[in-house]
Amino acid sequence: RLPRFYKDALSKKPREYWDYEKLIVKWGILDDYEVTKKIGRGKYSEVFTGFHVPSNKKCVIKILKPVKKKKIKREIKILQNVSAGPNIVKLLDVVRDPLTKTPCLVFEHVNNTDWKTLYPKLTPFDVKFYLYQVLKALDYSHSQGLMHRDVKPHNVMIDHDKREVRLIDWGLAEFYHPLNEYNVRVASRHYKGPELLVDDMLYDYSLDMWSLGCMLAGLTFRKEPFFAGADNVDQLYKIARVLGTDLLEEYLDAYDLELELEVEQRLGKLPRKPWSSFKNKENADRCSPEALDLIDKMLRYDPAARILPKEAMAHAFFEEVRKQDK
Ligand code: ATP
Repeated sequence: RLPRFYKDALSKKPREYWDYEKLIVKWGILDDYEVTKKIGRGKYSEVFTGFHVPSNKKCVIKILKPVKKKKIKREIKILQNVSAGPNIVKLLDVVRDPLTKTPCLVFEHVNNTDWKTLYPKLTPFDVKFYLYQVLKALDYSHSQGLMHRDVKPHNVMIDHDKREVRLIDWGLAEFYHPLNEYNVRVASRHYKGPELLVDDMLYDYSLDMWSLGCMLAGLTFRKEPFFAGADNVDQLYKIARVLGTDLLEEYLDAYDLELELEVEQRLGKLPRKPWSSFKNKENADRCSPEALDLIDKMLRYDPAARILPKEAMAHAFFEEVRKQDK
C-alpha cells in the first residue's frame, strides 16, 4: 500500500529535513514584536495580529499553548520545509518568552474573510479558482513528503480582494514515510477521511484529498459542512448515507479491515446516493457535471482510489482556471 505519487519524497532529502526531533530552534528576538488584537483561538494556540516593531510590518503571532516539545519542533520544522511553496503561509520568525519559555510562531498576515461570509458570495469561477490554489499548495507539500492532515475552511485563508490563498495551521502535519502507521486522531471531525474513522493507520497524502473533497462538496452544494457528523461514529454514518455501505465494505475487505460491531450495527445497509440528488434551486449554478465528477473522484472510501492533487489540477473542472494560470 503505497501512494501513487511522492512515495519516496523523503528518501531524496537529507536526514535533517525530516528528523525534526533533532531540530535546534534559532529563536528570534521577542521584543521585536508587539501584539495588537486577538483574531483566533484554537485547540493548540491563541492567535493575534501584531507587528514587527523595527520594520513596522503587520504580522500574525501564534502563541502556542503548552504542548510537547516534540510537537512544537515538528510544526516549526515542517513550516521551514514548506513555507516557500505556493499558497502556503510564510513563517517569518520564531520567538520565545525567556521566562515562560512559551514559543510563538510569527507568520505573514492574511486579510482573510471568514468562510461563513465569503463562501455564499463566491461565483462558480471563484470556487474553481480557490480550490485550484489549495491543490497547488497540497501538491507541493506532498511532493516535499508532507501531509497536512487538517484541511478545512478554517485553515484556508482567503484574501478575496487580492485573490490570494494561504494554507495555514501545519500543527497536525506529518512527514510521510512509506508503510509507516499513523495516528488516526487527526483532522477535524467533519473533514476526517474514512481511513481515520475505521482505524486504517496505513494512510498517506490522499487523506488531504478527502478533506478537500469535503470542502468542494460543501462549496458546490452550498452545504458546509457537507458531512456533519455529531461524533466519529456518526461521521462515518453521514458518509455512508451518501456513498452507501457496499463501497465501504469493498474498501474494508480490500485491506482486511473490520468495523467494530457497534459501528456496523449503527450503519446497517445504506444505498448510494447519486451526487446529482444534492442539486437544488440555490446551488444549481455551482453544480456543473464537471464539479460533480471531481467530487466523485475525491470522495472515495479507498484512499488509493482518490484522485491526487496533480491529477485533480488537470481535471476538466479547472479548464477556465488553467487558461488564466499560464
Ligand atoms: P485549530 O485548533 O482551530 O486548528 P490552531 O491552534 O492550530 O487552531 P491556527 O489554525 O494556526 O491555530 O490559527 C487559528 C486561527 O487564527 C485561524 O483559524 C485563523 O482564523 C487565524 N490565523 C492564523 N494564521 C493566520 C494568518 N497568517 N493570517 C490571518 N489569520 C490567521
